[in-house]
Amino acid sequence: MDLFEYQAKALFAEHGVPVPTGKTATTPDEARAIAAELGGKVVVKAQVKTGGRGKAGGVKVADGPDDAFAKASAILGMDIKGHTVHSVLVEQASNIAEEYYASFLLDRANRTFLAMCSREGGMEIEEVAATKPEALARIPIDPLTGVDLAKAREIAVAAELPEAAIDGATELLAKLWEVFVKADATLVEVNPLILTGDGRVVALDGKVTLDDNADFRHPEHEALVDIAAVDPLEQRAKEKGLNYVKLTGEIGIIGNGAGLVMSTLDVVTYAGEEFGGVRPANFLDIGGGASAEVMANGLEIILSDPSVRSVFVNIFGGITACDAVANGIVKALEMVGEVRTPLVVRLDGNNAEEGRRILAEANLPAVRPVDTMDGAAKLAAELAAAAA
Ligand code: GDP
Ligand code: MN
Repeated sequence: MDLFEYQAKALFAEHGVPVPTGKTATTPDEARAIAAELGGKVVVKAQVKTGGRGKAGGVKVADGPDDAFAKASAILGMDIKGHTVHSVLVEQASNIAEEYYASFLLDRANRTFLAMCSREGGMEIEEVAATKPEALARIPIDPLTGVDLAKAREIAVAAELPEAAIDGATELLAKLWEVFVKADATLVEVNPLILTGDGRVVALDGKVTLDDNADFRHPEHEALVDIAAVDPLEQRAKEKGLNYVKLTGEIGIIGNGAGLVMSTLDVVTYAGEEFGGVRPANFLDIGGGASAEVMANGLEIILSDPSVRSVFVNIFGGITACDAVANGIVKALEMVGEVRTPLVVRLDGNNAEEGRRILAEANLPAVRPVDTMDGAAKLAAELAAAAA
């Protein structure tokens, strides 16, 4: 999960990384009130999860409360690279002497952590890396020893930061590493890292990517989720522990195991070409233990997506045998109630015959059993096209 700048800065502040004082506003009036409270010049910054806000006109300095009102009016509602601005961060303006760059990230290719630091900050760091690679210091970080003050100084010196910034940057980098570790981040980036007119080193921008795989260690990260941006069905599926991904087509897909589900997406897309280009509407992996409850939850999610016109349930019985899955489907349909959307069911593998017998005996009007994956994909595509 990527954080908004204001969230990243709050996290920085918790760990002692110096950031400007500020607050978020969702209306120009709020922006004016915050500017009045802060006093003096302020900067009004669009809060969207994309870079290049400055260039797009989403970062503006205001010389007082009324100007903050005007700047917030201009920025709120703005579209920056497809992101609508719903809030702004109003901060005490900084007196910038110089702009640098600093980050810590997970370097997957080299199986380590990496510090990157440059005295050429502010602009896109990809551009610095491409045109002037020597200006970007890259220092691998040993995960066992991390970044102490000595290592932090080594990074600042390697980046050729000026003498006046070395001490401040050293302290800031050591604390920034603490943020990286404590929050289980895969990226913390500060661009620009600034030297102020009075010689302080401050994080003027902040980008943080948290490692979702570590969410179980961080109940506090739940509060950082941008609810408005989450697909409601994906949210419900997550609460029920299901792997569900919303796609753009018309055919609901349920399968057991990510590999099977992915190949089902391919087969359905291919079959759909014959029927006006109908495509998978989602991806739902019910995993190994396809119990009636899991199946019911899965069906409930898939069927509440209004774009779904047919469903393909593709099960390959393994440890969980097909008869158990078939019983699961029967019970699930009892739990879900009347289903009008056709369910094409293909059972294969362990105890497939018994599973098919159970489905046939249950005589469910919505269920259309098909023995092969290709045949089932074709029928699901045909039914979805017919329901259009
Ligand atoms: P980004 O463009 O999305 O990366 O947004 P930044 O937070 O990095 O801001 C872009 C630029 O705005 C910075 O590089 C600064 O030059 C400028 N800026 C941001 N805050 C201030 C401030 O407090 N005072 C001044 N003078 N400029 C600022
Ligand atoms: Mn920036």
